[in-house]
Amino acid sequence: MSAESVDTFRARAAAWLADNRHHAPRDYGAICPPDLVSEGVAWQKRIFEAGFAGLHWPAEHGGQNLSPAFHGAWVEECAKAGVPPVLNMVGLVLAGGAVMAFGTPEQKAQHLRATLSAESVWCQLFSEPGAGSDLGSLSTRAERDGDRFIINGQKVWCSGGRCSNWGILMARTNFDAKKHEGISFFLMPMDLPGIEVRPLKQMTGESEFDEVFFTDVELPAEHLIGPLNGGWGVGMAVLTNERGHIGASVIGLERRLESMSALGRGRGLNTSERQELTTLLSKGTAYKAMAQTQGPVASTASSLMKLGITEMMFDVSMLRADISGADAMLEGPDAMGMLSAPGARIAGGSSQVQKNIIGERLLGLPREPK
Ligand SMILES: Cc1cc2nc3c(=O)[nH]c(=O)nc-3n(C[C@H](O)[C@H](O)[C@H](O)COP(=O)(O)OP(=O)(O)OC[C@H]3O[C@@H](n4cnc5c(N)ncnc54)[C@H](O)[C@@H]3O)c2cc1C
Repeated sequence: MSAESVDTFRARAAAWLADNRHHAPRDYGAICPPDLVSEGVAWQKRIFEAGFAGLHWPAEHGGQNLSPAFHGAWVEECAKAGVPPVLNMVGLVLAGGAVMAFGTPEQKAQHLRATLSAESVWCQLFSEPGAGSDLGSLSTRAERDGDRFIINGQKVWCSGGRCSNWGILMARTNFDAKKHEGISFFLMPMDLPGIEVRPLKQMTGESEFDEVFFTDVELPAEHLIGPLNGGWGVGMAVLTNERGHIGASVIGLERRLESMSALGRGRGLNTSERQELTTLLSKGTAYKAMAQTQGPVASTASSLMKLGITEMMFDVSMLRADISGADAMLEGPDAMGMLSAPGARIAGGSSQVQKNIIGERLLGLPREPK
C-alpha cells in the first residue's frame, strides 16, 4: 500500500503531465483513431514507464496496487491537461477488466502487463450486421473442435480493427439455448489465418471502423475467457466498466460550454440563433450541475448524461453549421463537426436505447414488449 495520499498523487501527476503533455496525441476520447495509433502507443508506453498506468491494477501485473480513487484523479488530471488518459478504452477498460475479473492466472500473466505497456492493442468485436442494440442476437459461431474453436461469421463497426493485435470477441457457442445463454467471450489474436479486416468509409471521409470477417478461424480453446456459454455475463460486467469517470466528464463539459459560448463571438447572431445558443448553454449547465451531484463515479444517471450530452453536442454541431451558412458546405471543422456528430448518438448504446433504460430503470415505466 502506498503512503501517498490522493492529493499528493494528484499534484505529482499534474506536474508530470505539464512536463510530458507535448508528447501526447490530441485528446481523441475513448478510442484511438487509426491515424494516431503509433502516437497513442508511444504515449501509453511513456505513461507505463512513468508508473501512471494501471494505477488500480495489481503490481504483479505491472500496475501500482492503488485504490480506484487514484485512477479517478489521473483521469481528471489528464482531462485538465487535454491528453488521453489511456491509449484506448477497449484495451485498458474492457479487455483488461475482463481478464482481471474472469481470467485464469495464465491469461492474466499473458495479457495484463502487455496491455499496460501497449504491446497489446485491442479492438472490440461485438456488433454484427444483425446485432447492434440487440447484441444478444449475435450469430458469429464458435464451434468446439478438440482443443480449439472454429470461428465463422462477421463483425462490423469495429473501431481500429486493422491497428489491433488482439480483439475481445463475443460469439455463439450453443445454438439451442436461449439467445443470451449460448454466447461465450474470447480473446482473439487478430493475426490468425482466416481473419479479414476491411475498412469502412464514413461520411466524414475517414475510415475509423472495420468490418471483420472470420472464415474457419482456428482459435485455441485457451483463449476462452469466463465460463463456456457464460459470455453474456462477462460482456455485461465489462460494459459496466465502460462508464467514464464523472469528474472527467465535468471537465470535458466545461470545455464544451466554453467553446459553445464562443460560437457567436464576432459573428452577429440573429435572434433565433441567439435563443438556440442560450437554450443549449442552459442545458449544458444543467448537465454539469447533475454530474457534480453524482459523486465520483457515474451511477444510474450515466444514461441521462450520455443521452443529454450527445444530443446537446449534435444540436451544437447543427447550430454551428447554421451560423457558418454556406461555409459549412466546404471542407473544414464546421462540416466535419456536422458529419461526425451522429456517430456519438449511436456509439455505446443509441439515444433510443438510453431512453428505454431511463424509462424502465429510472422512471419505472412498463418494460419494452419483447
Ligand atoms: C463511433 C462508433 C464506434 C463504435 N465502435 C464499435 C466497436 O469498436 N465495436 C463494436 O462491436 N461496435 C462498435 N460500434 C457499434 C455500436 O455498438 C452499434 O452501432 C450500436 O450498438 C447500434 O447498433 P446498430 O448500429 O446495429 O443499430 P440498430 O441496433 O440496428 O438500431 C437501428 C435504430 O433502431 C433503434 N433501436 C434499436 N433497438 C431499439 C429499441 N429496443 N428501442 C428503440 N429503438 C431501438 C436504434 O436506436 C437506431 O436508431 C460503434 C458505433 C459507433 C457509432
